[in-house]
Amino acid sequence: MNNQWLVEMNLSTLFSNTEAFHSRRIEAANDVKVLEVKYDLMPPNSLVVRGTIGGLTDTYQTIIKFLEISLKGKTPVKTLTGIKKISKINPRNKDAEVFCECTFFKWAFNTPNYRVDALFDPIKNLRTEQPIGSPRGHSPNPPQIPGLCKHLIALADYLYEEKIITRI
Ligand SMILES: [Zn+2]
Repeated sequence: MNNQWLVEMNLSTLFSNTEAFHSRRIEAANDVKVLEVKYDLMPPNSLVVRGTIGGLTDTYQTIIKFLEISLKGKTPVKTLTGIKKISKINPRNKDAEVFCECTFFKWAFNTPNYRVDALFDPIKNLRTEQPIGSPRGHSPNPPQIPGLCKHLIALADYLYEEKIITRI
């Protein structure tokens, strides 16, 4: 384990890691489409965003969970239980947990994100396979740096366009 990553991570840090180490993921996010987004407020004060993201051939379920958001604000969010008003989320300040069911996320980010508490629902989503067992036989993320796949980047872009978060 790389001790330098033993802190929780916010969405902006995950994004800038991806920009620095996997810049082609940022470009590839332009090739996928956000098909559906659902919001849910989870007690005591988390916002769970579930996005269905379409690629060239398949669609994937993605999740971004923001921790410790403010439930006293002016930004309307259509949640599963009605419209709620939250404070616009600054992704630099709020720790986040993410997940995507795509293969790249599985091999590149599942374990590194878990190590910094940035994997959504590790009980269900933590993979036991090591990247060495990936289809190409090596890790797509050798330094094991936490980050985002193109589907999660597309969802984050969407949240910015929808004014749920400030610029990432
Ligand atoms: Zn993905």
